[in-house]
Amino acid sequence: MDAYQHILLAVDYSEHGDTVARKAKGLAEKYQAKLSIIHVLDNISMPDTTYGTIIPLDHDSGYELLEAEKIRLMQIGEQLGVAPDHRWMVWGTPKQEIVQLAEQEQVDLIVVGSHGRHGLSLLLGSTANSVLHYARCDVMAVRLLNA
Ligand code: AMP
Repeated sequence: MDAYQHILLAVDYSEHGDTVARKAKGLAEKYQAKLSIIHVLDNISMPDTTYGTIIPLDHDSGYELLEAEKIRLMQIGEQLGVAPDHRWMVWGTPKQEIVQLAEQEQVDLIVVGSHGRHGLSLLLGSTANSVLHYARCDVMAVRLLNA
């Protein structure tokens, strides 16, 4: 198998995020690949800003919720040793933004968590399923047990 060169980890700040992050970090080390992280803001409304849907992490937005989300992403980035310019915070729908950033940044592996869904939630689909369906690169779905 060819070595991966650029891995994108999608982080949702859930309690199972560490498991997914460890896998991505391990793969990045194994392949000596660049590691990027993305967090998509899908639960707070977008304030009227001048910088569009991609939020620069060094920008003081003045919005408390947004600041908290930025701090979390910076902390995860520090823990994983992700370069500041490879930490992305974007407004939108996770499945779309993850796939779009992967294309923009020429990512060759996306790492997401995957819940063991059944019943109605399986029919409604998941972020992992959608990313797998639409991404042009490889996708690793890390099984999250009891999630
Ligand atoms: P879900 O199926 O939506 O519960 O999410 C499964 C996986 O999708 C998570 O483990 C993350 O890897 C990714 N994901 C979900 N929501 C987000 C988000 N807002 N930002 C980035 N990644 C996300």
